[in-house]
Amino acid sequence: MAIGIQTAAYLFASILFILSLGGLSSQESAKRGVYYGIIGMAIAVLATVLGEGVAGQVYIIAAIAVASVIGLMLARKVEMTAMPQLVAILHSFVGLAAVLVGFGSYLDPKTHSLEGAAHIIHLTEVYIGIFIGAITFTGSIIAWGKLEGKVRSKALLYPGRHAVNVILIIICIVLGVLFAQQHGTAGLPYLLIMTAIASFIGVMLVMAIGGGDMPVVVSMLNSYSGWAASAAGFMLGNDLLIVTGALVGSSGAILSIHMCKAMNRSFFSVILGGFGNAPAKGEAKVIEGEVTSLNHEEVAVLLKEAKSVVIVPGYGMAVAKAQYPIYEMVQTLRKAGKNVRFAIHPVAGRLPGHMNVLLAEAHVPYDIVLEMDEINDDMPDTDVVMVIGANDVVNPSAQDDPASSIYGMPVIEVWKAEKVIIMKRSMSAGYSGEDNPLFYKANSEMLYGDAKVSVEKILDYLKG
Ligand code: NDP
Repeated sequence: MAIGIQTAAYLFASILFILSLGGLSSQESAKRGVYYGIIGMAIAVLATVLGEGVAGQVYIIAAIAVASVIGLMLARKVEMTAMPQLVAILHSFVGLAAVLVGFGSYLDPKTHSLEGAAHIIHLTEVYIGIFIGAITFTGSIIAWGKLEGKVRSKALLYPGRHAVNVILIIICIVLGVLFAQQHGTAGLPYLLIMTAIASFIGVMLVMAIGGGDMPVVVSMLNSYSGWAASAAGFMLGNDLLIVTGALVGSSGAILSIHMCKAMNRSFFSVILGGFGNAPAKGEAKVIEGEVTSLNHEEVAVLLKEAKSVVIVPGYGMAVAKAQYPIYEMVQTLRKAGKNVRFAIHPVAGRLPGHMNVLLAEAHVPYDIVLEMDEINDDMPDTDVVMVIGANDVVNPSAQDDPASSIYGMPVIEVWKAEKVIIMKRSMSAGYSGEDNPLFYKANSEMLYGDAKVSVEKILDYLKG
């Protein structure tokens, strides 16, 4: 393929990626955004593989075919609840790719035929690319482990860890200066030591973050993976990879800022790791009150009597796949003249937008799906709130217990409603590991059981 055609194809693909990101900014246009992304990526891959100076296309296409089949199989098989883990592990691949590209580029004899400033600049690209890639690689693997439940979600903190991180970064900078002064491949040991240190930093950055703050880590690693791809683009001299990586990196950073805002955390302490674990202030508050529960029929009676109902879904709704019967229940209540709306917390579930995706899947109209900030003021005028498989996002400790690890995170103030029904299987804590005083409040009632089974039973009583 002539270089001019390749450049045009790259430009077209970049425009499609920008349109794709634009599309993803609203639920109505998200599907279109995904299609733009797919077409853009297909054009990008073809233009690269068929580009000048690329040999062995047969092998590349065979590898793409095999990888595509694996990707398709994985994507079809993966449960919606396991999506965050899949995203985390995919981020790790980008990090690993940047590391491999970096070493490949360093060992390439062409690199060492460069002279003067060009040589130093290229070595710097290689060094920074591998550094970001290694952090992304190991950090994403730990994030995957935490989300999968293979690594404990509680923060791993040790005294002086910030000082250790700073010292490690200084060592990496010193190694980088020495590396850039080496001739031929003599800098390889420096590169290898830095890779090991960066890999360790990646592990420790994510290990230091507690369960409740994982959403920010996922979006932050998304951003890191973009910068890693961009760094790979510099090493390979591929403009499209630089642009695409920068798009992913900056959109991931914007998402991280939004998530930090939603969780009332500081962005800079996030990117430095271990932000969510300010030492607890004082003793944990003693939970007072008694837990009471209702059965399905009693909940149906409450709903029949209510004029306004708010549903707060959480991770448990995703586990139970309860969104379909929930929407059926909502339709039944709305037909009976009730005002029924959904309240979505920005970090409900295990993925940014997790609840919105599930509700859209069940064809819930967007106009009754409200953000936390849009609905919190309406809570005192709400007759019944149904908390379906949510826990941390409705935990009042976030507002009134400085000893809680989620203290400071904005939550949906369901306890201000007339009646709160909490639908879950047991009294167990949410992802953050914090107990929830909401269950003990005088206007709260537990409804134990799997969310889907419970909603179906309530629906039977409502219809019956
Ligand atoms: P939580 O994880 O706090 O609570 C979910 C609740 O669902 C559990 O207490 C569980 O209780 C219940 N549950 C599980 N399975 C079922 C089922 N089949 N039927 C009924 N209930 C069920 O979820 P939230 O959505 O409230 O909060 C999300 C948490 O995850 C926050 O801490 C957030 O920071 C974190 N997080 C969010 C990410 C994001 O991007 N959104 C990413 C990573 C983490 P029981 O076992 O008793 O049934």
